Parts: sequence; C-alpha cells; structure tokens
Amino acid sequence: MELWFTEKQTENFGITMKIKQTFVNEKTDFQDLAMVETEEFGRMLLLDGMVMTTIKDEFVYHEMVAHPALFTHPNPKHVLVVGGGDGGVIREIMKHPKVEKAVLVDIDGKVIEYSKKYLPEIAGELDNPRVEVIVGDGFMHIHESKNKYDVVMVDSTEPVGPAAPLFERGFYQGIFEALKDDGIFVAQTDNPWFKADLIQKVNRDVKEIFPIVRVYGANVPTYPSGLWTFTMGSKTYDPLQVDETQIPELDTKYYSPRLHKAAFVLPKFVEDLCK
Ligand code: SAM
Repeated sequence: MELWFTEKQTENFGITMKIKQTFVNEKTDFQDLAMVETEEFGRMLLLDGMVMTTIKDEFVYHEMVAHPALFTHPNPKHVLVVGGGDGGVIREIMKHPKVEKAVLVDIDGKVIEYSKKYLPEIAGELDNPRVEVIVGDGFMHIHESKNKYDVVMVDSTEPVGPAAPLFERGFYQGIFEALKDDGIFVAQTDNPWFKADLIQKVNRDVKEIFPIVRVYGANVPTYPSGLWTFTMGSKTYDPLQVDETQIPELDTKYYSPRLHKAAFVLPKFVEDLCK
C-alpha cells in the first residue's frame, strides 16, 4: 500500500508526496508537528500540515534568508532569528566569522528538539558556542530588545496561529527599534501566486517604517507555488549598492556573489505588488 502526504496550498490546489516512514506525529503546545521521510525530498518537517523544510531543498531557503542581509551589512556582529527552530538559518549564519553572537527565539521547543534528532544536517549548529537558543515568543522578545541587533531575520511559519503577530505592522516597528542605527531585517514573505495580498501588505507596512525596502526571490520547490519571496528593510545599507566582487564565495549551493543582486530582479507581476 502506498502512503502519500498532501499539503493543501489553497482550498483547491496542493502538492502531494509519497511517504516512506513517519518518525513523529504529535500535537505540541503550539501546532501539529510531523517528521517524515519522503521518497523524493528525504526527511521533512511539517507544522500544521505545511512543509517547513526538507533535506533535499532546504539549502535554498536557508541560504537566501541569511546571506543577502549578512553581505549587505558591513559588520553584522549580533544577529537575531525569530522562528527558525529547525536551525537551518543559524547554520548559514555561522558561515560568517564576523557574527559574534546569533540568538534564536522559537516559540516551540519541540521543533528544536525533533530537528536536532531527525535533521542533524540542518540543526547541527544550534549547539555552536556563538549561538544562544531561547524558547519563547519572538514578538515579545523583539519588544523587549532595544537598539540591540545588527540584523534580524524572521523565519516564521505562515501568518496563522502563533506566527500571526509576526506579520503585523507593530512587529516591524518593534524590529526597527530592536535594530541598531544601521540595522537590517529580512522576513520570509510567502509566494506571489497565492499570497499576493500578504506581500503587498508587508511591503506597504515596511515602507512606512524603513527608508530602504527591497524584495527578492528564490525557487523553493516544496513551498507553495515554488516561487518564494523575502522582504528586506534597512536603515542605512542598500543590498543593491553592495560591490558583489567583494563578496567571498561561501560553502553554499544556491546563494552566490553573482546571485546577490540578481535575486532582487523580480517578475513584473511581483514588481507590481511592491510598488
Ligand atoms: N521556512 C519555514 C516557512 O517559511 O514557513 C519556517 C520554518 S521554521 C520551523 C518556523 C518556526 O516559526 C516554527 O518552528 C514555529 O514554532 C516558529 N514560530 C511561529 N510563531 C512564532 C513566534 N510567535 N515566536 C517565535 N517562533 C515562532
């Protein structure tokens, strides 16, 4: 008998994957958590029936959350990740020797626990001495942090449940105040095919708060529509003003110095959402 997992990406459209094995399937204090092995994408973390990360394609998203901001800021010593309990963004941040401390705040300790156990390739740097892991609400942490971080990365679930406040204007205002005077923030801002209104709203809110706002994209095959966007708000530094010839080649599989600026070239229908 074949077992398949289907993620309904809208009420009328989804993706489906053949499952080899189920390791975890439980309700945590915050969400339904499943850890499975798929034929096509290897081990996969699901939260509330949505694909969070897979062994085969996780590098795209985690590299693209981390590197554009860390190569735009000239001296990113203190970095915060809101969400990101699978550890993938932290792993990428650790490739930057200038980062003295990376703080991760994820509301659900079970995501961290099971990612360490079943996704060591992704979560392996959560025990790095430069990393501080906090199990808590990123919304509260941001509002308790003033003038503290050089870079803030929001690697949260969709704007439902505990992540809903992380897409509100007040949260971006809180990020602005948690950042130092030349700080940068980046957030995953979903896909333009099914969440155009979210991209438009976030872009409008962030433009009211930050002087420099840029949107960039990447191809994540297991995410809804496969075209994923990221919204960057910066107080001083513009990612498009970076001299990419000065960006070092890192141990990456998607991000590169050549792709740094190219990622900000968007299809016209996505550009139109960000006007
Ligand atoms: N890359 C994925 C995506 O784009 O949907 C996100 C992966 S990461 C596992 C998402 C994390 O956000 C989860 O571990 C979840 O527990 C965390 N999260 C949701 N709401 C949160 C909040 N208010 N504060 C901190 N973490 C939160």
